Amino acid sequence: MKRGGEGIIREEYLKRLRVVPGKSVSLKNFGTGWAQSEELKNAGKAAVKERAAEILEANRQALAESQELLWANNTHAVLIILQGMDTSGKDGIIRHVITGMNPQGCRVSSFGVPTEEELDHDFLWRHVLKLPAKGEIGVFNRSYYEEVLVVRVHPELLEKQRLPPGTRDEEFWKRRYREINAFERYLTENGTKVLKFFLHISKEEQKERLMARLENEEKYWKFSLTDLAERRYWNDYREVYETMLEKTSTDHAPWYVIPADYKWAARTLVADLISTQIRSLGLSYPEVSPQQMDEIRTARRILENEE
Ligand code: AMP
Ligand code: MG
Repeated sequence: MKRGGEGIIREEYLKRLRVVPGKSVSLKNFGTGWAQSEELKNAGKAAVKERAAEILEANRQALAESQELLWANNTHAVLIILQGMDTSGKDGIIRHVITGMNPQGCRVSSFGVPTEEELDHDFLWRHVLKLPAKGEIGVFNRSYYEEVLVVRVHPELLEKQRLPPGTRDEEFWKRRYREINAFERYLTENGTKVLKFFLHISKEEQKERLMARLENEEKYWKFSLTDLAERRYWNDYREVYETMLEKTSTDHAPWYVIPADYKWAARTLVADLISTQIRSLGLSYPEVSPQQMDEIRTARRILENEE
């Protein structure tokens, strides 16, 4: 059987994008460009880009197939988490990688600054409400990871969270990582595959993309002064991202650091990882029971005998 584009990118290459659980993380060791191996460098940018487009296309088909299997089995869900600095391409991944999937079995949720109602609950609550059902693929455009990213860079945000007195001690962040890991373990053990992607861009590339938003009228709507404000905290974000990757990459839900300075490279890698991971669930079409088979024969007879 022809297997779409699943796992076209070499396993050893994908393995390098995976954050090894329990190991300390330095983002210096993860590139942001397209030439992440000698082999790719030798092939040259034009050739790699062309191949990437082919792989993306094949994976789009593979993804549509995997989604159908997921739906037919109705035993598993897939949760895709996208994190990254402003302009890192989260929306583009959704538009380009998730297209081709059946919108009925796929839902995208974006998480911004929490509302008053959301602040009335624990930090995971609003995300639980958006979890994919069995058979579905859910995409989180930002997620509860913001709780150890933006909130860690701006701890004054915690004041709005109405935490129980005495909980903001020196163990506070450690507990948040532990709670996130426990939550994802629970999801995994109950049939939800959790796939986490950090879109890794360089500071220079972010500048280019922000400038592009200022120069292109069609991108004005995307511009927000807060993006510039957050850029001033680039180094702080880098640090909290490193800690997050280190503390929450687990065997059941590892992080993948996606080189994202080139949108085509990032999209291809994410599509390949998603289709490979869904395939690893080992799903196949449910067996047809003898009774269903009888019904199919009857239906065929009825249709054939129609006037
Ligand atoms: P965007 O993704 O561009 O629509 O921006 C969403 C904004 O919401 C970003 O600036 C995030 O940092 C912010 N945000 C997301 N989750 C949280 C959170 N839990 N607490 C505070 N701010 C958040
Ligand atoms: Mg934004």
